[in-house]
Amino acid sequence: MKTIAVANQKGGCAKTTTAINLAAGIAMQDKRVLLVDLDPQGHACLGLGIDPNRIPTSIYDVLMDKDMSMSNVIVHSKISGLDLIPSNFKLGTAELDLRATAGREMILSKKLGLLGQHYDYCIIDCAPALSLLMLNILIASDEVIITVQAHYYALESLKRMLGTLHVARKQFGPCNVRALGLLLTLVEEGTVLCRQVQQQLREFFGSLVFETVIHRSVRLAESPSAGEPVLTYAPKDKGAVEYRAMAREVIERIARLSRVPV
Ligand code: ADP
Ligand code: MG
Repeated sequence: MKTIAVANQKGGCAKTTTAINLAAGIAMQDKRVLLVDLDPQGHACLGLGIDPNRIPTSIYDVLMDKDMSMSNVIVHSKISGLDLIPSNFKLGTAELDLRATAGREMILSKKLGLLGQHYDYCIIDCAPALSLLMLNILIASDEVIITVQAHYYALESLKRMLGTLHVARKQFGPCNVRALGLLLTLVEEGTVLCRQVQQQLREFFGSLVFETVIHRSVRLAESPSAGEPVLTYAPKDKGAVEYRAMAREVIERIARLSRVPV
């Protein structure tokens, strides 16, 4: 199982939208995918039509109870091959509740590791904070996709996020996480600023920036209210076409990077 976190310490830059549609896009390519909601807002649940406040148990219970496994809280989505580990507001106190637990930054990695044979990909939707949960995510993940909204402050939050990856790798022995790529989101092709930010990112980060970019789309913004990824809600919409391309690019990039040079 390849574990990919979708992260940025900034809010509103399409992390959840990307996590949901990437997970659905990969599942639609006949892969087994687990989407893990690690944001107390539970938006990844809502986006798949699952009410986070009506679920009996969630990721919070798994993190708190050493005898509880991830498989106890898995919810099947309407999309074949796509399962969800749900989250809700309770997760908001996890950091405090775990303060006296030894090895607390490793819990997610250990528990997710036990599911490794059941899924090909695990996609984690992160909250926009540098917290104990984020540290757990970085240690549990092989790859991070950083979503970047194409505007002036994007570079600042991007530098912060890349710095965090560096610190996590340096300070936590088992952590080998790397940046798989930067995904430009909420792109408005017509604006000069958007073009400038795109150009700047490609000049600075080169092929780390995904070729696929995600443009603003009304159908994409609507799809969570229908409880569906845009891929099933409006399969012909530009947003769906772009997220399908993104899913292909992610699979290809991982395959290419995993190949051992001879
Ligand atoms: P984050 O998880 O980073 O906070 P979200 O994925 O929740 O960001 O996106 C923030 C808001 O922007 C949501 O209302 C979402 O529906 C909307 N959104 C995200 N991507 C797009 C897009 N490409 N086009 C239009 N709206 C989008
Ligand atoms: Mg979110």
